[in-house]
Amino acid sequence: MPVYEFRCLECGKLFEKRFASMHEKVELQCPECQSRSLERVISRVNFLTRPGKGEQKPKLTTKSCSPGSNCMTLDIPGPEE
Ligand SMILES: [Zn+2]
Repeated sequence: MPVYEFRCLECGKLFEKRFASMHEKVELQCPECQSRSLERVISRVNFLTRPGKGEQKPKLTTKSCSPGSNCMTLDIPGPEE
């Protein structure tokens, strides 16, 4: 189960988000100020890797909803079978 760490660009709050599924799409929001201006902190990615397949890096895509409302959707596919 991957866990990603994010930082709020508004208040600097660091928080972790655990994804129940590697294919889950999650709308992220700062727990402190409810801002959706977030950046992912790469340094502490806990991602299950399988022995013998080398390092697997999760992909991260972000989408913006509409101008004026910062809304971020993460699409994180799991390792390829
Ligand atoms: Zn915040």
